[in-house]
This record gives sequence, C-alpha cells and structure tokens, in this order.
Amino acid sequence: MWIEGRLVENNQTVRLQVNGATIGNIEAVNLDTSVWIAPGWIDIQVNGYGGYDVNAPGVTPESIIALTRLLWQRGVTAFCPTVITASEEAICHSLEAIALACERDQRVAHAIPCIHVEGPAISREDGPRGAHPRSHVRAPDIAEYRRWQVAAKGRIGLVTLAPEYPQAREYIQALNAENVVVAIGHTAASSEQIQEAVNAGARLATHLGNGAHAQLKRHPNYIWEQLAEDRLLASFICDGHHLAPAVMKAMLRAKGIGSSILISDAVAVAGLAPGLYETPVGGKVELLANGRLNLYGTPLLAGSVSSLPECLANVLRYTDTTLSEGVRMVSTHPGQLLQLDAREKRGSVVSGSAADLTLFRFDAATGDIIIETTLVQGEVVYQRLA
Ligand SMILES: [Zn+2]
Repeated sequence: MWIEGRLVENNQTVRLQVNGATIGNIEAVNLDTSVWIAPGWIDIQVNGYGGYDVNAPGVTPESIIALTRLLWQRGVTAFCPTVITASEEAICHSLEAIALACERDQRVAHAIPCIHVEGPAISREDGPRGAHPRSHVRAPDIAEYRRWQVAAKGRIGLVTLAPEYPQAREYIQALNAENVVVAIGHTAASSEQIQEAVNAGARLATHLGNGAHAQLKRHPNYIWEQLAEDRLLASFICDGHHLAPAVMKAMLRAKGIGSSILISDAVAVAGLAPGLYETPVGGKVELLANGRLNLYGTPLLAGSVSSLPECLANVLRYTDTTLSEGVRMVSTHPGQLLQLDAREKRGSVVSGSAADLTLFRFDAATGDIIIETTLVQGEVVYQRLA
C-alpha cells in the first residue's frame, strides 16, 4: 500500500510505502495535497471516551476494545487507559479488564502500550485531590502495587502519585527498577519533597497546573517547582478549559516544547452530545455546548471531554507552537517517555519505523484539525468518509 501526503516534520510531499506493519520507501514527489502525515498519536492519559469508562464498575474487555476503536477515529493510535483512585478491588477489576482486552485482540494490545495508574497515593486536600474520591486516598504501598501488576499481567507502565508521603522515595525507586515511569501529580508537596521525588527517579509532572489548590502561595509553590525542574517532563490538558490560553502559553515556554506532552485526560462522556449525564465515578455532570464538563449545578470542572485533535488545535491557537512542534508533543515525546521509540520504532515517520500513522487536515480558517486516516500496524483502522 502507498500513502500520499505532506510530512509534518519537514513539509515535504511524499509517497510512502507501507510494508506490513513497517514503513518502507519514502519517495519525494510533487503533489498538491492538504493531507498531513504524522507519526501515530499517543495519549498517555485516557479515562474513557464515547460512553466507555475505564473506571466504571461494569468495565469489560469488550468496552476497552470498543474504546480503543473509538480513539482510532480521533487519530490516536496508542493510549494509556488510566485507572484512578478507588478501592484496591475496583482498581484490580479495571486492570484485569484491560489486560484481558489486550490478550483477546493483538491490535488492541499494540494500541495499549501500557496502563497508567493515577493515584491512589495522592493528596487528600481539596484542590490537589481533584475529582478523586477522598475515601480511597491512601499511602503508596509496594505490596499493593505488586498485586496491581498481577491483575494487569505486568502491563502497568506509568504511575502518578503525590510524593509527600514518607514511603514515596522507596516506592518511586522500586517502580523505577521495574522500568515503570513515575509521575508527580495531584500533589501538595513542598519544593524539597518534589526535589526528593525527582532524585528518586520521578520523570513526569502529570497535567501540570491542574489538580492543584484554587488558592496557592504565589511563590515558591509546587507548580513553579515542577515547571523549573528540567529533569521533569510535563503533560498538559490543552482543552481550552483546564488551562487558560495565557497559562498554557507561559507554561509551555517555561517547560520547553521538547519536554512537553499533550494529553486529553478525557472522561467517558467525551465524544457524546451536550447534556446531563450520570457517571459511575463522578456523579451527575453537565456537558456544555462549548466543550466544558461541569459537576452539575456548579462551575467546577468534572473532567476533560476533548481528544488529542482538539488539544493540538488549541495549542496552535494559544501559543506560537508550529504544527511540527505540536505534533511532536502528541507523538514523539510520549513515545520517548514510554520507550516506544527505541523498542518499537514508534513516534517517527522514517523508512523502517512502525506504520502507526495519523493523517489529518488542518483547517486554517477555523484552526480545527480533521482526522482523515489512522493506521495501526500498517492497517487502516479509520478512514473519514468524504
Ligand atoms: Zn488527574
């Protein structure tokens, strides 16, 4: 199979050969095309989409498979299903469903390079705790983590925690030793505690600027500390609601494009029509026409309902990021964090790399991004109808 379009990375129009699951020859050709070719997009934080909820008590392998297929329609070739703070039993139930989905469907296994566990070792305080249930917040426990990995068949590759627990250093070191990425998030940590966590091996700041107190000492504080720490990459929810445009622009400049990753952090009602929804974890929520999700009857955010195309379009609107820089933040950088670049040659479009590709158009008039075609392992898994 041959694919035609313009490479995001260098603006070159090409014909690109797909050989099985790998990219073959790439030939420069003269083309009049508005289709961009990018490495497959990787979303390291997805709680749900299109009504499918990773954290619902009724989650099944079938719903994880359906969720994966819906995300392909949004140009997402790989994602980390994100299991949040809950009882150990509930966490393990979600992990088992994801692991079973991967065992049943090889392409889904490829699309789920690892599972993200966000919590339950997060701050108990209102603000940093976000929408996670306080009753299930608890200290990091290596023995519990090992039981999660048994339920997940070893598929957990990313864990977000608040490092202010006394057990955090040992926990971070233990996870690091197993090649699991540790992220800081939902935290009220002091600067010293953040430094200690980074020294112990924490590598990412999860949705920096969110999961934070509504009122915060202006400086120093945990946001500045993580922003300034060059050993920490940062993920950002650029849905237009979680971070105001000026905040997104300033944070991206401070952290640097090369250390930044865009995530959707989407919840189950993402992709559904505006209206009222009853969610198993978040209670009653209202999805507004402008893409904001509120706890019903309040102005409080109840999660993100964007997916990566909207986040990428927003970052281009709010900042001076170029298209190729923006695409790197949804493909190359998350691929590097999860070591998919070296192991599986994902996150780049060169001869010999994985044929996981996201083809899209950029509408200059509206600033929107329209997904045209998604390829996973060389197979067309989504094609927009003309
Ligand atoms: Zn979160």
